[in-house]
Amino acid sequence: MESAREVLQQVFGYQQFRPPQDAIIDTLMNDGDALVLMPTGGGKSLCYQIPALLRPGCGIVISPLIALMQDQVEALRLLGVKASFLNSTLDPDTAREVEQSLRNGQLDLLYIAPERLRQPRTLALLHEIELALFAIDEAHCVSQWGHDFRADYLELSLLHEQFPTVPRIALTATADARTRQEIIRRLDLTGASQFIAGFDRPNIRYRIALKQNPKLQLLRFLKDEHPGDAGIVYCLSRRKTEETAAWLQEQGFDALPYHAGLSADRRAAHQARFLREEGVIVVATIAFGMGIDKPDVRFVAHLDLPKTVESYYQEAGRDGLPADAWMIYGLQDVIKLRQMMAGSRAAEEHRRAEQQRLNAMLGLCEITTCRRQALLSYFGESLDQPCGNCDTCLEPVDTWDGTEAAQLALSAAYRTGQVFGVNHLVDVLRGADNDRIFQYGHQRLPLYGKGQDLDNNQWRSVFRQLVARGYLSVDLERFGALCLEEKCRAVLRGEESLELRRDVRTRTVKQRTRTPLPEEVDVALWEALRDCRRELAEEQGIPPYVIFHDSTLREMCVNLPQDLDQFSQLTGVGERKLDKYGPAFLRVLQDYRSGALID
Ligand code: ADP
Ligand code: ZN
Repeated sequence: MESAREVLQQVFGYQQFRPPQDAIIDTLMNDGDALVLMPTGGGKSLCYQIPALLRPGCGIVISPLIALMQDQVEALRLLGVKASFLNSTLDPDTAREVEQSLRNGQLDLLYIAPERLRQPRTLALLHEIELALFAIDEAHCVSQWGHDFRADYLELSLLHEQFPTVPRIALTATADARTRQEIIRRLDLTGASQFIAGFDRPNIRYRIALKQNPKLQLLRFLKDEHPGDAGIVYCLSRRKTEETAAWLQEQGFDALPYHAGLSADRRAAHQARFLREEGVIVVATIAFGMGIDKPDVRFVAHLDLPKTVESYYQEAGRDGLPADAWMIYGLQDVIKLRQMMAGSRAAEEHRRAEQQRLNAMLGLCEITTCRRQALLSYFGESLDQPCGNCDTCLEPVDTWDGTEAAQLALSAAYRTGQVFGVNHLVDVLRGADNDRIFQYGHQRLPLYGKGQDLDNNQWRSVFRQLVARGYLSVDLERFGALCLEEKCRAVLRGEESLELRRDVRTRTVKQRTRTPLPEEVDVALWEALRDCRRELAEEQGIPPYVIFHDSTLREMCVNLPQDLDQFSQLTGVGERKLDKYGPAFLRVLQDYRSGALID
């Protein structure tokens, strides 16, 4: 383990392992297999990179994220690691060169796409050479129960059959127990040691608000809390991503659309700008999430309800600095997603899985207690105290006894034959006198006009919560018709009472997350260091964060290193980067001390 720590410090520039990284590395060094469950940003890569460097032979990393491989490999090369990749984006000549260097034993790490791996030619090559390990990244892709299933991954069981002595490590950030079991079964990992890291990501602030005026809500959030920050805005439809991006541009933001309907060139260009420049906002459909690995995404904003809890916050703040997972949602979102689920043609088991994931997402939206506690319990963990860094902790939600209102709402759906949508039901309850009411004779119903105590929005809030909690379902055949579910009997009979969330029209979170800098740091120095990083990144055609993360720049501001020795103590400064970048940043720090930076 001593040598592992040396590699950690000298190559990666980190002082200590984050448990359980050390135990995982130990397992692989002793020829054992490992299954690793760690949240995004937890530090999975080191778990196979370090053993690949220490063990004889080349480590093979299997990943479905082709778009990421080049960046991952470039980042490793900057650290002085001999890494390459093989996937369909390489031209045949380059691919042959990579194969040749593999044959010559010149590589420590090779990233490879699953479809490439299973080609007979590739397998034959792997049999020729010495292998340090197999790392199966995004291992949940093997699970049909999970949300990113890939048929190619099923064939990865061949690794064990064909290379029984090479240790394997499977890694994922998707933690639910079923997915885990399926990974073990399909990849034949029954003998593997399991490592489950805590899923809490304390730097992320969770916020979910009621959708009122989406554009203005987004605008206020971006202007007040994230000016100049990089982030992702998610929408469900392609058209909406284009509209929103165009609108944000008009408002002065550097915003770009991203969805599967754009040409491959444009997608690549937008992704590259997001990664390489600072402060770019991407407005994307969910298709974007899988393909990025940018550590300094300061916010993820959802204008539509995402289908899973995981996709609500995954990309935010991987560097551990404060970041927001922000979302607005309303009754229409709930109805739309419920309908999509009902119309899904997937197999029964898969549909049930989708349903459960959606329920978890809706539960998170409607919860009136700490969101982090709810999130963690979804991942099978518990948090003793409310977190203090989510909206419900920062601004406790008011609840009210909604039992009677719920009974009225459910009765309205029942008495009108379960064929009407929410608007009409609210009209009935509020005693509206429009044509539709008279056309159906609903003014004669005993509950007509019985709901004057609540206004339109309050009734919509009641219906939303009833749908979200599964008391009412949405009929796909009759657009938006609300039907009673078995579970509402107890409420109607008065055997169950319901605490409902009292929606507030505008929610402002008092403390902002926008504090990338400690108090005592001089903004001029911070900006000068960022400029230095940007220039170096442009010269080399790589993203700024590949040179140093914001957290390393922050440390520079706080510690003010004076020479290479002090500079080498900073987190994220290994030997290679010390040589390559230390002098440039030290010059900036020197200028600062001598007062040359004051403008
Ligand atoms: P994951 O693959 O789990 O999402 P990464 O492997 O990309 O996470 O690591 C997330 C970040 O944490 C990276 O910037 C990485 O360099 C950093 N990191 C990983 N391990 C350590 C450590 N022991 N000390 C400091 N930083 C670390
Ligand atoms: Zn909380």
